[in-house]
Amino acid sequence: MPKKDKPHFAQATRGADAKMAKKKIVVDADTCIGCGTCEGIAPEYFKVGDDGISEVIKQYDEKDKDIIEDAVDSCPSQAITVK
Ligand code: SF4
Repeated sequence: MPKKDKPHFAQATRGADAKMAKKKIVVDADTCIGCGTCEGIAPEYFKVGDDGISEVIKQYDEKDKDIIEDAVDSCPSQAITVK
């Protein structure tokens, strides 16, 4: 008796789609003047390093979108982008 093949399921693409849709916070190191405004507004997401450049320490989370947008809008050199 031939062995029955296991049912074949199409590969799920939801995970890949979700990953593609995920936003990313980027600080342009050439534009950042290290003023610390972003860190003051969203310390969970930004930290000005010893080099005087803000660093993204946590990636975009939809639940904090207002805080992140506030940091983006408040950056005096427009160094922060969310892609
Ligand atoms: S607010 Fe803008 S210029 Fe100031 S530290 Fe943050 S990224 Fe740099």
